[in-house]
Amino acid sequence: MISVNPTSGKTIKSYIEDTEKQVQVKIEKTHNAWLKWKETRFSVRAEFLRNASAVLLKRKTELATLMAKEMGKPLSAGIAEIEKCAGVCDFYASNGANFLKDEIIATEASKSYVSFQPLGVVLAVMPWNFPFWQLFRFLAPALMAGNAGVLKHASNVSGCALAIEEVIKEAGFPKDVFSVLLINSKMVKKAIAHPFIKAVTLTGSTEAGKQVAQQAGFHLKKTVLELGGSDPYLVLADADLEQAAEICMQSRLINNGQSCIAAKRFILVKEIEKDFLKIFIKKMQSKVTGDPLESQTQLGPMARKDLRDELHQQVMDNIKAGAKCVLGGVIPDFKGDHAFYSPTILTGIKKGMPAFEEEIFGPVALVFSAKDEEEAIKIANDSPFGLGAAVFTASQARGEEIASKKLNAGSCFVNSLVKSDSRLPFGGINQSGYGRELSSFGIREFVNIKTVYVK
Ligand code: NAP
Repeated sequence: MISVNPTSGKTIKSYIEDTEKQVQVKIEKTHNAWLKWKETRFSVRAEFLRNASAVLLKRKTELATLMAKEMGKPLSAGIAEIEKCAGVCDFYASNGANFLKDEIIATEASKSYVSFQPLGVVLAVMPWNFPFWQLFRFLAPALMAGNAGVLKHASNVSGCALAIEEVIKEAGFPKDVFSVLLINSKMVKKAIAHPFIKAVTLTGSTEAGKQVAQQAGFHLKKTVLELGGSDPYLVLADADLEQAAEICMQSRLINNGQSCIAAKRFILVKEIEKDFLKIFIKKMQSKVTGDPLESQTQLGPMARKDLRDELHQQVMDNIKAGAKCVLGGVIPDFKGDHAFYSPTILTGIKKGMPAFEEEIFGPVALVFSAKDEEEAIKIANDSPFGLGAAVFTASQARGEEIASKKLNAGSCFVNSLVKSDSRLPFGGINQSGYGRELSSFGIREFVNIKTVYVK
């Protein structure tokens, strides 16, 4: 497995993959560590999580630098990501015990209640786009619930994977309660089949989710799947256009355009279409693109050159199918074998064009025209995905009605960009996956919801 710097195309480091035997040994050791870990009190687990939070904060610049080098995230965004990871550790340290306390249910028994018991070793298959956050939002509740974890990270961020292992070690967690498997995606099937793997969580593309769900299903192991998205942002006739365009731009370009919950489809009602576009184009052009290690950089390269080339092909295919490119659509002329892509806007997206169905994972905005609010909602819901959605309107009540009742997605926001928050559940519907992370819902995904009945 090779880590390549997407700013320069230069190899950072090669990693030797674990053999099948090594994978087995790691899973067994993690299982053995779990047998003791599951007996620990919540207060003990919380202390380790607080240590992990402190270690993350202490090392935030170093860890953000690693992300900048391995997958191109600008330094300031990387620091914010590490702070968010520290936050989720603190959140579950403070709230986990309460989320998992016994629930007494009155029956004719002398005592009957629900008790939440850990399952064992959970396999986490994770993507490169938020290499720390995606893992910590799984790991913090998993450890707090008394589970153990093994991580198969994306092949281009092995350095981040090993750094996470170090953070957990430095925080003082018992040895082997969390470990990294350096394996490619083909070996995942074997790991899933191991009897000590009790459940699987995957964050990644819909295709990978389907494969992993199928394999886990065969072995009757529970899965949580956080998959792709094509989040629609609806701009209604009465919206504050300046504010809406700013949020739309931020959401589209977050993480160099590579976020599952980035705004990907912009659905504009005809009254504001021209005015909104004018502002939006200006904003999409305004970001400083460059080396993610330089402090003034707001937009770095994409994570890998092959992903950038695929994105450019998607743009070309949509133009061929009738979309109009009103900004970008080009690979910038920077030096080196880089993975940069210019912020791009395609207008006139219609049913039948590839972008109507596909996820566009890069700094490319797809603009749809709607004759009115009703049609905007119809277009928004006419997608295989259902991760997030947002609506912009001066009427908070109308916005809330659309967000809560009309839009089909896991998280629907009004006049705000869709973001994850430790206090709120996060996840999708349809091809965006199932199950929830974060909040009280997330920590209950990988537990045995056990009924205890005492006559
Ligand atoms: P990806 O190619 O699906 O990879 C994700 C992880 O799955 C990697 O560790 C990858 O390993 C592994 N993998 C890929 N194919 C697999 C298979 N057939 N069997 C087992 N494991 C497999 O996704 P990505 O390109 O890293 O990330 C981008 C995608 O993730 C986008 O679709 C994005 O929307 C989605 N995402 C979703 C969320 C969410 O919360 N819903 C959050 C972030 C990202 P290798 O690297 O070794 O191939």
